Amino acid sequence: MQTETRQVWAKCLDIIRQEVNEQSFKTWFEPIVPLKIVHNTLTIQVPSQFFYEWLEENYVHVLRKAIDYTLGRNGMLEYSIIVDRGDRKNPPIALNVPNQKPTTPPPTQKRPEPTIYESPFQLKDLDSLELDSYLNPHYMFDNFVEGDCNRLGRSAGLAVAQRPGVTSFNPLMIYGGVGLGKTHLIQAIGNYIKNTYTDKFVLYVSSEKFVNQFINAIRNNTLQAFTNFYMQIDVLIIDDVQFLAGKEKTQESFFHIFNHLHQSGKQIIMSSDRPPRDLAGMQDRLLSRFKWGLTADLQQPDFETRIAIIQKKLQADGIYIKDEVIEYLAHSIDTNVRELEGVIVSLMAHASLNRKEIDMDLARATLKNIVVDSEKEISVDNIFDAITSHFDVTMADLKGKSRKKETVFPRQVAMYLMKEFTDLPLKSIGYHFGGRDHSTVIHAVQNISVLIDSDAEVEKMVQKLYKHFNRVRVKS
Ligand code: ADP
Ligand code: MG
Repeated sequence: MQTETRQVWAKCLDIIRQEVNEQSFKTWFEPIVPLKIVHNTLTIQVPSQFFYEWLEENYVHVLRKAIDYTLGRNGMLEYSIIVDRGDRKNPPIALNVPNQKPTTPPPTQKRPEPTIYESPFQLKDLDSLELDSYLNPHYMFDNFVEGDCNRLGRSAGLAVAQRPGVTSFNPLMIYGGVGLGKTHLIQAIGNYIKNTYTDKFVLYVSSEKFVNQFINAIRNNTLQAFTNFYMQIDVLIIDDVQFLAGKEKTQESFFHIFNHLHQSGKQIIMSSDRPPRDLAGMQDRLLSRFKWGLTADLQQPDFETRIAIIQKKLQADGIYIKDEVIEYLAHSIDTNVRELEGVIVSLMAHASLNRKEIDMDLARATLKNIVVDSEKEISVDNIFDAITSHFDVTMADLKGKSRKKETVFPRQVAMYLMKEFTDLPLKSIGYHFGGRDHSTVIHAVQNISVLIDSDAEVEKMVQKLYKHFNRVRVKS
């Protein structure tokens, strides 16, 4: 870095420091790296797109002032945004964004989605072509957080990635519920192989796309080309195979491709939303092939893993938020990783739009506003809202220490509802009530259950709350 650049930036920081508070300075200005000054234009490097947008939204006047002061009225600022491709081998891409049009975001690096009906298998000369793997380079092992919930799948995946086609994990079948990381993991394997063994042809395909290609191949009389194409693949990654259920002809074709690849020592990696034994509508001979290798499941991440995932995500975006906020999020969202990520993204969006720092208040407000799936999810805050409007208590009462009957009862009802309506572990429920421990929660739940069965008034009240949440209470 030029000395001049460093000096100019140091001056800018001096000015900025006077304009913003300590916390904002640390969060938004310390991570910036000054890169160069060319023709009166200072280029600064920022860690992410979000970071850039935040600066432009909230601090453009401060930056302008600093530039005016150091470089004069004609001074310009340019952003260089690190686009994290999750890939150590490829250096970050820098986008230069002049600050004259703060409203236009820089172009994204996304590759256009391939259309479902394109037929790569119709290409004749495979060797002379740059074959697209249809892998998303963002999905890497590096950013796949390990926890008890995914240890087996992750380590088997890594073994396969290091020695494709050679281990006994062939095929490798990863199964688990929605949003738990199946696509991420199987693509991470693909990316690893692609980067390590450059001569291997890796292909990622969703089962849906595979089915569509198959149907098209029949329609266009190119079935042979379709099959030949798939038989040349070194590493076939096929996502969501449950989608093949009931599609007899496609399964037959897949069966032949599978056998050919397997016999030639090629690696097959699959994912499914349920274990093979529950894959109804799948031919037995195909199912028995799935069992040749290794089947590993992904489960819901536990509290510690959720924390680690949030931290990783924030780190990737160059954002710092307080531990207590991270903990609050990890305690509040326990469904799946996709939802966890979704909440973080909307939190960042809210912060940006409302020009607020990400703190507890904003986290609470954001979680409350997130539309919850009426069938499935009722959030902690929904329950608190219902309780505080139904009873004469405040949030502070519920979280506080009072042992008064008028407070204890609503508090216990709230705990009971949380136990009923969320999948939160007792420890997390206790956390939401001012850090009470799990035995207090057990006691509350038992107490309310007994009252429901023995006291008609209590039963009626609980029914009403169920109704409020569009739930039906099934009597035990
Ligand atoms: P699935 O295919 O099982 O529905 P995805 O692979 O699409 O789930 O994962 C949903 C989101 O959660 C993705 O953005 C993914 O990167 C992220 N994710 C899932 N598991 C992890 C993990 N262990 N570490 C980091 N990110 C994860
Ligand atoms: Mg998926």
